[in-house]
Order: sequence, then C-alpha cells, then structure tokens
Amino acid sequence: MSEAILTLNAGSSSIKFALFTFNHALTNIAHGEMADIGDIPHFSIHGPHGELLLEKSWPHGEALSHEDLLGPVLEWVDQHLGGTKLAACGHRIVHGGDIFTAPTRLDQTALEKLATLDPLAPLHEPHNIAAIRAALALRPGLPQIGCFDTSFHKTMPAVATRFALPRNLRNEGVRRYGFHGLSYEYIAGQLHSTAPDVASGRVIAAHLGNGASACAMSNGQSVDSSMGFTALDGLIMGTRTGTLDAGVLLYLMQAHSMSADEITDIVYKKSGLLGISGISADMRVLLASKAPEAAEAVESFTYAAAQHIAALVVPLGGLDGLVFTAGIGEHSPEIRAAICARLQWLGIAIDPLANAKNAPVISKAASAVEVMVIPTNEEAMIARHCVALLAQHSIDQATPDVLALRT
Ligand code: ADP
Repeated sequence: MSEAILTLNAGSSSIKFALFTFNHALTNIAHGEMADIGDIPHFSIHGPHGELLLEKSWPHGEALSHEDLLGPVLEWVDQHLGGTKLAACGHRIVHGGDIFTAPTRLDQTALEKLATLDPLAPLHEPHNIAAIRAALALRPGLPQIGCFDTSFHKTMPAVATRFALPRNLRNEGVRRYGFHGLSYEYIAGQLHSTAPDVASGRVIAAHLGNGASACAMSNGQSVDSSMGFTALDGLIMGTRTGTLDAGVLLYLMQAHSMSADEITDIVYKKSGLLGISGISADMRVLLASKAPEAAEAVESFTYAAAQHIAALVVPLGGLDGLVFTAGIGEHSPEIRAAICARLQWLGIAIDPLANAKNAPVISKAASAVEVMVIPTNEEAMIARHCVALLAQHSIDQATPDVLALRT
C-alpha cells in the first residue's frame, strides 16, 4: 500500500512544501508555497506538471502564524491523498550544529536542543523550528523528521573545519560546518547515476540561488565548503555578504555604534547583490538592467564565485567535474560563462551552444574538466531521508518496497 511524505522548507516569509507518495519509488504529486507571510499571505499548490491545483489568499495585513498557514495545507493534503496515509512530515533545517548530524525524528526535547542553534542561523533556524512546532501541534501523532543542511558535510576533515581562533571557542562549537548539504547530497546521487566516472573523482558543485555556496566532493563525499560557521560565509548571495573581513564588523560597532541586531540586518538582509547594486537581490533583474551598479553586482558575484571554486580545488588536489545548480546555476548561461571564463586556467572550456541551452553537459569534449548543469531537488532528498528513517524505525513491519527505498 502506498504512503505519503510531506516536505516543508520554512523561511522568514515563505513556506515551500512538496508532497510525495512512495510505493515502489518516490513520486512527487504536488508542490506549493505559502508566501509573503506577514504581508499579503497567499498559498498556491501545483501538480507535478505545474498545473494549478489550488490558490488561496488572505486579506492584506492579516497576521498569520505558521500554524494558521499550515492548517489549510494539511487539510488539503488529507483531501488530496484520499485513502493514502501521510506517514511523516520532513523538514529542511539549516543548522544541525554538532548535535544533529543525521536525519532525526523531532519531539519537544529535540526541538529545545535545536532552538539553542538559533543564533547560528538567525535568518532561517527560528522559522524552521516554528514550522515544526506548528506541525506537531496540528498533527501530534505524525512523525516530524528534521533533515539538516549541515549533515552532508560531517565528512569534512578537521583541517577544513578549523578557524584560527583560541581553542576554547572551537570546544564550544565555533567551527566551520558547511551548508546546502541536502542539495549537494542530491547532486552527488544524480552524478553517481548519470556520470559515475566523474562522481568517483574530484568534483565541485556550485549551488547558486538566493543563497549561494560551493562544495568540494571527493568520491561523492564533502571535503570542504565555501560556507563556514553560518550560512553567511563564502560566495556573494542575494542579500548576504559572503566572506567579509571581520574588521568591518568591528568598524561598524566602533565607528557607528551598531548593535548585533543592526549588523545582522545589514550582513544578512541588505548586502550581497542587493547591497552592491542598490537595485535588486534578483539575478534576473540585474542581468536585464542597464544600470552600471547592476553590472558591478554581477561582476562581483562571478568574481567571488570563481575565487571560491578555485580555492576548493586545493583540498581536492585537482578537478574532474564542475556542477552548476539552483536558480542561477541551472538557468543562467551568462553567469556560468562568466565564472568559467575566470577558471580557464584550470583547463575548463565550455561549449557556448550547449551552455545557451542549459544542456546537462556544457563543456567541450576537450575540456580538462567536465562542466555540468544538474537541477537540484532538496525536497526529494528530504523525502528519501524520511522513508529511510521510517523504515529504520519500523523495520519489522516495513514492506519490501519501503526497504528497497532505503538504499
Ligand atoms: P532559493 O535559494 O530561494 O531556493 P533559487 O534557487 O530559486 O533560490 O534561485 C533564485 C535566484 O535564481 C534568483 O536570483 C533568480 O533571479 C535566479 N534565476 C532564476 N532564473 C534565472 C534565469 N533564467 N537567469 C538568471 N537568474 C535566474
């Protein structure tokens, strides 16, 4: 009998969700988004081919909690599933710290531990936790499974995790963790089935979305990441600074008397592409703009991306494959070309026609590095983890289909 998994990815102003059934395989049957929480909240649900299944909005200014928003979604899920049982709800959680290094069933005790990590991901973690609390309140018996963006990077060697700070800070968890792990884990799996030779070698994946990072993988395992203690480090992002001289923070505190909250607001929400351009955090808008400030933002983005990718060649000792993924990585030939142009010295040569078509392989046959475009699917990764964890917990009752999905 088939069962279903609902995945939730809760941010500050939106909750994205996806619904999967699993029997012989996982099948996505719907996905949707509740957006503009706190402004004009609305939600829409689409079928697997993008067809609109449901749309609903609330009056302007109505303040809705995560619970208010999740309630109608769960009701719709029950109706849509008919007799199919919802077996679990899987949550994308940005930071697992040293405490959560694998998908975990979350109860009140686990949530309290998770809440201690709020300061490490202030833009994400509180919203992730609010959605889990809402789901627990609405469906007390339904397993809530946390899947962490940091888990995939637990294979990073100690040297890649170390800051040059006093040892006592390291002992309290101040170290580099790495993020976007669900995306990289999915990419590693896709590579393994579509390009096993590359997958078993030295690969850098660049997740270029509103958040952006790069990950060095050796034989499918993370060995380093451009992101560190928080998801603020590394590449320039939509509104986040990326790597920033810590002296700038000291300057803001000393010369501008800024508080931690004010600095958090600047480095997480007002910087990156938005900060440089003064126009938008959205790459499509910047690419379409004729303003020199937009061009500067794009130039800085590609410069920083190429720099971080190059730095990640060090732990790998060379490069066999480069993968572009997420909104910008999957859809922008212009950005991929600009980054690859700065990496030609690595033997990277892209085929302009394949690049223009967002083809799966965009490098020339003679390129020393195979350059690929692979759409990511963090929701599918969460659903797979949920199925695996459910099977682990009920191995005696698990059907052969569920057991097959564990691998
Ligand atoms: P998130 O990190 O929120 O999941 P996405 O992975 O959806 O973000 O990426 C969003 C980014 O992708 C935005 O900057 C958007 O402009 C960019 N993007 C989407 N499509 C294109 C495109 N065709 N060309 C350039 N940028 C694009």
